[in-house]
Amino acid sequence: AFAVEFEGVTFSYGDTATPALTGVSFSLPPTGVTAIVGPSGSGKTTLFQLIERFRTPDEGTVRLSGADISAIRLDELRSRIGLVEQDAPLLRGTVRENLTYACPDATAADIDEALAAAHLTDVVSALPDGLDTSLGEGGTGLSGGQRQRLAIARALLARPDVLLLDEATAHLDSDSETALRSAIADIGTRCLVLTIAHRLSTTIGADRILVIEDGRLRASGTHAELMESD
Ligand code: ADP
Ligand code: ADP
Repeated sequence: AFAVEFEGVTFSYGDTATPALTGVSFSLPPTGVTAIVGPSGSGKTTLFQLIERFRTPDEGTVRLSGADISAIRLDELRSRIGLVEQDAPLLRGTVRENLTYACPDATAADIDEALAAAHLTDVVSALPDGLDTSLGEGGTGLSGGQRQRLAIARALLARPDVLLLDEATAHLDSDSETALRSAIADIGTRCLVLTIAHRLSTTIGADRILVIEDGRLRASGTHAELMESD
C-alpha cells in the first residue's frame, strides 16, 4: 500500500481565489524521503495542511495507508502524522525533558531510540550534566541543527507513519545540514518523510522529488532524472 496518495486534489482558499492546488495526484511508498520542491507560494504548505486535514480538498481525495483521511478520526490521523515546523518551539529544559514533556508515557528506551534515530546520542552524552539546555542564550546549549534534530526526535516518539518536515534545512551551515540530511535519510528507513525545499539543488539526498509550480504537479522522479529533463 502507499503511505500517502493524492488523487485529483484541488483546493482554494476562497471562492474567487486561484486554487492553491489544482488536480494534484501522486502516490508515495511507506518509507523513504520525498522532497516537495517549488518556489514560494507554489502550494507546498497547503499540501502539508491537506495531509494533516487542517484543510479539506474542494475536489479529490487524500489517502493515508489506503484510507480516505476524511474517514479517519482526527486524533488518530494526527497521531500518525508527525509535523516538525520551521523553528519548532523547544522547552528551555534538557534534551530529555523536551522528549518526556512531549510524550510522558515514553520509556527511557523509547527516548534513547528517538535520540539515536535523530543522530543525537553522541551529542547528548557529550554534554556535561545540566548543560544540555536546548534553548537559551548561555551558549551552552545545542546548535541550530541539533535543535532541529531534537524537534525531529520529539516527533518520532509518537512513531508516526509520516513525518512532515517544514523547511528543515533553512539557515543551517553546511556541516549541520549534512548531519541533518543524514539523520533524515536514516529516519526514511522507518517511515515516510516528506520535506519541503525551494530548489532542486538542496534535494540531492531525497529518494524522490515532486516539483510543484503554481499549485500543479509539474514533474516527479529522482534527483538524477529531474536533472536530465531540466
Ligand atoms: P508555499 O508553501 O509553497 O510557499 P502555500 O501553500 O503557502 O505555498 O501557498 C499557496 C498559495 O495559497 C499562495 O498563492 C498563497 O498566497 C495562498 N495562500 C496560502 N495560505 C493562504 C491563506 N491562509 N489564505 C489565502 N491564501 C493563502
Ligand atoms: P519563556 O519563558 O521564554 O516563554 P517557556 O519555558 O515558557 O520560556 O517556553 C520555552 C519554549 O517552549 C517556547 O518556545 C514555548 O513556545 C515552548 N512551550 C512552552 N510551553 C509549551 C507547551 N505547553 N507546549 C509546547 N511548547 C511549549
